[in-house]
Amino acid sequence: MDDGRVATFERVERDGVAVHTVPSIFEACGVGVAFSERTGGVSVGPYASLDLAGHVGDDPESVDRNRDLLFESVGIALLRDVLTTAEQVHGTQVAEVTRDVAGCGALVEGGRSPLKGVDTLWTRERGIPLMLMYADCVPVVLVRPSVPAAAVVHAGWRGLAGGVVRAAADAMGGLGGEDDLIAFVGPHIGACCYEVGRDVVSHFESRFATIAAASFHLDLGAVVTQELVRSGVPEGRQCHLGICTAHNTDRFFSHRAEGQTGRHGALAVIL
Ligand SMILES: [Zn+2]
Repeated sequence: MDDGRVATFERVERDGVAVHTVPSIFEACGVGVAFSERTGGVSVGPYASLDLAGHVGDDPESVDRNRDLLFESVGIALLRDVLTTAEQVHGTQVAEVTRDVAGCGALVEGGRSPLKGVDTLWTRERGIPLMLMYADCVPVVLVRPSVPAAAVVHAGWRGLAGGVVRAAADAMGGLGGEDDLIAFVGPHIGACCYEVGRDVVSHFESRFATIAAASFHLDLGAVVTQELVRSGVPEGRQCHLGICTAHNTDRFFSHRAEGQTGRHGALAVIL
């Protein structure tokens, strides 16, 4: 917070598992935020090695073990059973995670399913870790320190075109108190590597001044920035990690660069 920004990321590596965390937010309101890298896990082949997703063809036991390793690395192994995940369908549906659904999707093998049809999870309960999985799409974590409350958002181009960021901010906005949302934007594919068709650009050119109609490189980060501003999170309250997944396949999974691959994660928990 010294350089004028609301918070800054810190890369922490423990037992080969690397995450990008935000220590100042944890100190301020007890919300832990972590964006994982792909190293330090047990998955092999295209999923090497810390693949966290159960739906991309990896061995389920390996994925569950990788989730164990991530939780051990960030010091919340005791909360592994109540990890809550979502189906992620590139939609805009938001789910508030309360005690009765805690643990849905914790395990790939066995247990209750991830929350169906949902692309945003949020909670104001302590001790329920929320996690969504990504390989190029934009991971957004929203924190409202005054409650405290935290959300994890899965934002690909379809979700962004549909208003997934706004829906997430709105869900957390009805809590009263000050308008103090802070946004953390994790690793995602950069405009450098995200060439798209005319049809995709057409969803954005009219609503986003920064998206040039003539360009076939879609800047998802710029779209997220603007969507956050429109949702009441000014740029001064946004922290962007600014790493392109496709440019850094040694550290992150990239569907665009690799095709069949694993998923890294965005994790938020109120402790
Ligand atoms: Zn790139």
